[in-house]
Amino acid sequence: MPTRLARALPVALLVALFTGASAAQAPQSPAPYTVVSRDGRRPLPTRTFDGQEMFAVDDLARLFTLSIKEDTIAGGLTIGVRGQSILLSPNQEIASVAGRLISLPAPPARDGGAWFVPVDFVSRALGIVAGTPIELRKPSRLIVTGDFRMPRVGGRIEPLGAIARLTFDVAPSTPHTIAQDGNRLLLRFEADAIDAALPTTSAPELIAAVRLEGTAGISIELGPRYASFRASDLPGDRGGVRIVIEIIAKTTEGTPAPIPPTAPTDTPPLLDLVPVGTLRTVVIDPGHGGAEDGARGPSGTAEKAVTIQVARRLKAALEGRLGVRVILTREGDSAVGLDERAALANNNKADLFISLHANASVRPAAAGAEVFYLSLEEYGDEAQRAAGGPREALPVFGGGVRDIEVVPWRMAQAKYIDQSGTFARTVEASLRSRLPMSPRALMQAPFRVLVGANMPAVLVEMGFMTNPAQETQLASEAYQTDVVEGLVEAVIQFRDGRGVPAPAPVQSERR
Ligand SMILES: [Zn+2]
Repeated sequence: MPTRLARALPVALLVALFTGASAAQAPQSPAPYTVVSRDGRRPLPTRTFDGQEMFAVDDLARLFTLSIKEDTIAGGLTIGVRGQSILLSPNQEIASVAGRLISLPAPPARDGGAWFVPVDFVSRALGIVAGTPIELRKPSRLIVTGDFRMPRVGGRIEPLGAIARLTFDVAPSTPHTIAQDGNRLLLRFEADAIDAALPTTSAPELIAAVRLEGTAGISIELGPRYASFRASDLPGDRGGVRIVIEIIAKTTEGTPAPIPPTAPTDTPPLLDLVPVGTLRTVVIDPGHGGAEDGARGPSGTAEKAVTIQVARRLKAALEGRLGVRVILTREGDSAVGLDERAALANNNKADLFISLHANASVRPAAAGAEVFYLSLEEYGDEAQRAAGGPREALPVFGGGVRDIEVVPWRMAQAKYIDQSGTFARTVEASLRSRLPMSPRALMQAPFRVLVGANMPAVLVEMGFMTNPAQETQLASEAYQTDVVEGLVEAVIQFRDGRGVPAPAPVQSERR
């Protein structure tokens, strides 16, 4: 049902095409939002004031056909929408929308005669009075308007040996079809477009690539071992649907591998996934914080800022995809001691500990990621004993003896060294397929933060902050996403008992 606003959009959007250029982007300005409607896509630039991304009220007025009246005496701004009004006051984080008070994350900003409002204004204020849906999607930087159907689609791939499982979470639930077309599968949605985050393949033998097809389709390019597929729909979160597509491999004889029985439809199918280990809690340790900046790049990027950004992304990815509990050792820019970080993981009975850092070198050319696990050598006999030495038999009250493990807290990591090594090798291999790696990408070192961790633990140097090109990469969304994807894949492999095993034993006699 077209409303007045929806009909007004085409003209308004054309105007915006020209005004978009006048709001030229400063070099560090974020990419503009895109306003999507049946009539097309138009950029809506933002400006950042005090860390808050804002839209110019003039731009919004042109796009959404608003009237603007400034009250020079009271200093406020009245925005008229379909006979209703929104009142903004300088320095007020509260706006009145058709007589109702709503809060904004920051007061409006002003630059010369122009007013700016936090991007949330669009959903919190405009959306209430517009008379047509206006949805702000911050992660994809979209504003979806009118009756434009643009479901969000998040995809992931789990390599499970003879099967690769491709999962798409679609919200809201949208009718779709899946069909084979030569060497690919086409997943088509009954929608005007899709807002998709597609996975990079981690099972190239079965899935060569996943890419957008047209405006509302996804093409799954099949790999050389493809034999057959099957698909099922499961209920998703918040009215969404989860589409599970299993790509089944040929056996070595060239016939399809036997298809495991289908699991009940109310739970995701498990197939040949052996529950080798259960993973409930992961602790992510964003290195440094507070007064401790860590490494500094030539342009001033602080290691502590990159580590918290990646940690937050990794937390969201692990929680969203694996359904595990994820705890960060610091939530904001605060100082946390090294032993406290391990203690937090121990107290929460974490199953995995991942410490995130960025490297520094006096050689500006040094580049690439490195993965560490603890080296026990510096800790001497005490550590060797804790790692696997004989247990001590201690007398107990009431007679008899009882074996107890005498492991000083500071040696907690010793008994997990082998598992930490496996996890570190798995992380290294997974990152290597996505990122430049240092010539020494896998190492053992006596990192204090790992010593007390009572679970498999690794430390990842994501790149060299002191290398100008890597500094830019480390601060970029694309590079951070690659780090997160690599770590998520490694966690899945480790959880499923498919970690990279230790190489053939080399003689490592104690000296
Ligand atoms: Zn560091």
